[in-house]
Amino acid sequence: MEKCDKCKREYVRERVVPTMGLKLTGGRCVGGGARGRCRGRLRDTVLDWEDELPVEETERAERHARCADLSLCLGTTLQILPAGKLPLLAKKNGGSVVICNLQPTKYDKKADLIIHGYVDDVMTRVMDGLGIPIPSPDCPDSRREKSHEFTTAKKTKLGKHTRQQSSEDVT
Ligand SMILES: [Zn+2]
Repeated sequence: MEKCDKCKREYVRERVVPTMGLKLTGGRCVGGGARGRCRGRLRDTVLDWEDELPVEETERAERHARCADLSLCLGTTLQILPAGKLPLLAKKNGGSVVICNLQPTKYDKKADLIIHGYVDDVMTRVMDGLGIPIPSPDCPDSRREKSHEFTTAKKTKLGKHTRQQSSEDVT
């Protein structure tokens, strides 16, 4: 995704954006405004490890977290702050917090429900319970009816996220 510096318009791309760390991508905004084309410079929206969270999005996340009836924390130790504390804001207005993670987290005592398991397995059961079919991923060779292969394909697709979780877990 790229975001315009000037009008804040966002562009979802099918290709990988060439930069990361909120840098200029070289693209220009094609959005129209009252004075014609915006032509603002576009930046990527990928945070690098040392980047601060963007203020506008963080404030919006806090507002939504405070209003939530239920926060689902899926596959995270909640150790990376300030994002890790966002789900707990739901508690301030009577909301509930569910933590689903393989290992314990330091916020387990504050959770209304703790599930130690794989997110894929838990969410498959939740969706079954709700009677909502899980859409097939866009991967052309995935075969949902073979659940093991499907799980493997999804884990491969989400490999980066899985590694992040693993590295957090050992810290
Ligand atoms: Zn623009």
